Amino acid sequence: MPDPLIGKIFDEFPDESDWDVVIIGGGPNGLIAGAYLSKAGLKVAVVERRYEIGGGLATEEVMFPGYYTNIHAIYHLLVDLMPVLRDFDLDRHALMWTKPNAQAGMVFEDGTSLLLTRMIEDTKDSLMKLSVKDAVTFGKLMRGWRRIVTEIIGPATFIPPMPPLDMIMAMQRTKTGNEMLELVERSPLDIITDSFENDRVRTLMLYVCCMWGLDPRETGVGMFVPLYLDRAMNKCYCVGGSHKLAGALTREILGNGGTILDAADVTKVTMRNGRATGVEIAEGRALRSKVVMSTLDPQTTFFDLVGAEHLPEALRESVEGWKLDKWSFNTLHVATREPPRYACDDPWINEAFMVISGFESPDQLLAHWDSVVAGKIDDNFGGHATCESLFDPHLVRSPWGGHVSFFQMHAPYEIEGGWEKRGEELEEAILAKWRKAAPNMTPENIIATSQETPEGIETRFPNMRRGAIKHGDYTPMQLGCFRPNQECSDTRTPIEGLYTCGASTYPGGLVLGGPGYLGANRVAEDLGVAKWWKPTREMEHYIKTYVE
Ligand SMILES: Cc1cc2nc3c(=O)[nH]c(=O)nc-3n(C[C@H](O)[C@H](O)[C@H](O)COP(=O)(O)OP(=O)(O)OC[C@H]3O[C@@H](n4cnc5c(N)ncnc54)[C@H](O)[C@@H]3O)c2cc1C
Repeated sequence: MPDPLIGKIFDEFPDESDWDVVIIGGGPNGLIAGAYLSKAGLKVAVVERRYEIGGGLATEEVMFPGYYTNIHAIYHLLVDLMPVLRDFDLDRHALMWTKPNAQAGMVFEDGTSLLLTRMIEDTKDSLMKLSVKDAVTFGKLMRGWRRIVTEIIGPATFIPPMPPLDMIMAMQRTKTGNEMLELVERSPLDIITDSFENDRVRTLMLYVCCMWGLDPRETGVGMFVPLYLDRAMNKCYCVGGSHKLAGALTREILGNGGTILDAADVTKVTMRNGRATGVEIAEGRALRSKVVMSTLDPQTTFFDLVGAEHLPEALRESVEGWKLDKWSFNTLHVATREPPRYACDDPWINEAFMVISGFESPDQLLAHWDSVVAGKIDDNFGGHATCESLFDPHLVRSPWGGHVSFFQMHAPYEIEGGWEKRGEELEEAILAKWRKAAPNMTPENIIATSQETPEGIETRFPNMRRGAIKHGDYTPMQLGCFRPNQECSDTRTPIEGLYTCGASTYPGGLVLGGPGYLGANRVAEDLGVAKWWKPTREMEHYIKTYVE
C-alpha cells in the first residue's frame, strides 16, 4: 500500500509475479512470439538484458551523435514471405520496407562489375558482359530455383521440420520437389562451378550463396543455393532502420496487455520437479510462469540458465556438441561527406544495396574463407559494403550532414595477434581495400568511424557466443529437424514448460521470424489457446502438397 501521506507515485513492479508466458530475449524471435501470444490473450512478459529492445534489429549511434547505423541485421531476406507481416497490421506503426532494384554488385580490380538486380532479365544483361552462356544459364536456372523457394523452402520456414526420410518422400510428390532433391546432396561450390563457366560470375554467385555461413564445400546443403541466390535478389531495407520493426512489435505486445522488462538479465530458469516454472533476473526478481520460451543459444539456455544437472543425458550431449558459426563478421561503420563512388563500368553499382569487392576469383574467395576458419585474415581479404543513407537519408541527423555506410567482412573470433591490436591495423587495411574499389573513400571524406569486431558482437550479445550471428553453424547436422537437436527442433524441449525459439532452433538464424512464429504456434497449442491467425496462402499450399 502506498503511504497515504506521500501519495501514490507508481506501483512498484513486484519482486514475484505470475505470467502465462515468459520469453527470454527481446530480439526478432522473442518479439514475434510475444506479439502472437499476447494477442491470443495470454499474459506475456518479454525479458531483455539490454536497454534497447530488438536484439539484431538494432539501429544505433555507434560512430558519433546524429549518425545512425543498422549495426546488425540490415538485409531483411524474407519480407515477402514472413507471416508476421501479414498477420499484424504493422502499417499503423508506419512500418515500410524498400526493395532496391540494384541488389548486389561485385566490383573487380580492372573496373569490371557484375550486378544482381530484382529482375532476372536485368541481371542477365549484366552477366552478359562477361559470359553470354552464363547469362542464359542464369535465366533458366533462376526460373526453376525461384519455384523451389516460393513453393517449398520459403513456406517451409514457418512449418515444423520433417525428419529427413519423410522430407525426401514428400519432395518426391512433385517436379519442383524432385528438382530440389537433386541439389541437396551437392555442395554450393559444386553447383556453382558446374552451372557457370566464368570465374568472376562464379565468384559473385559463391559469395552471395555462402556469405551467411554455408561451407562452400559441404555436401547436404545444396538446397540453400536457390534460396540464397533468390534472396540475394530480394533483400529489403526497413525504412527508418531495422529497429523500427522491433518498435512496432513492442507496441503490439504492450497494446495486447503484455509487458517488456528491459535491462533485465535472466540469470536462471527456475525448476520444480523437472519442470520449468519461471525465471529469475539479475536484480533479484522472480517471474513465475506456465511456460518459459528461450531465444538464446543452447549453451546459455540449457547449461547456464537451466543447469546441466536438470538435463536428460541425450540433451546434455547434444548441447555439448553444439557447433558455433564457423566465422563471424567484422564491420567498419563510417560516416562520410560523400557516399562511396565505385570506379567501375556500370554506374548502377553506386545505387546497389550491397557492393562486394576485393575478390577476383573463386580460389581467392575460398582462400580467404579458409584463412578465417584457421583464425587468420590475409591481405587478400574482401567483403561487402552498403551505404545505408542512400536508402534512408533520415539515418543522418547531424547538422554536418553526409552519409553512413559500412564495410563488412568474414572474420574469426580468435585472431592471430588478438583483436585489440589487429582491429586497429584492420581499420586501415579495410579503408585501403575499399578505396581500391571506391576511390573517394579517402581520409578527407571520412567524418567518423567505428569498428565492431567479433568480440564486440559477443560483448553486446552474449548469446551470440564467439560472435556467432546465427547462434550456431549451418551444417547438415544442425539444420532442419536437427536444429538445435531432434528433441527441441519443434520448439518444445524435453523439459516440461520450456521451449526454445531463437536462431539456434529450426529454421535458424537471420531475421526470418521462423523460430518465434513456430514457438508461438506450439505454445498456443500446448496451452489450449485458440489461434487468432491462420497459415499464409503459400503455407497452406505447401501443407496440402507436401505435409498432408
Ligand atoms: C554484425 C551482424 C550482422 C548481421 N546482419 C544480418 C542481416 O543483414 N540480415 C539478417 O537477417 N540477419 C543478420 N544478422 C543476424 C541476426 O541479427 C540474428 O540472426 C537474429 O537477430 C537472431 O534473432 P533472435 O531473436 O533469435 O536472437 P537475437 O537477435 O540474438 O536476440 C536475443 C536477445 O536476447 C537478449 N539476451 C541475451 N542474453 C540474455 C539474458 N540472459 N537475459 C535476457 N535477455 C538476454 C539479447 O540482448 C538479445 O536482445 C546479423 C548479425 C550480426 C551480429
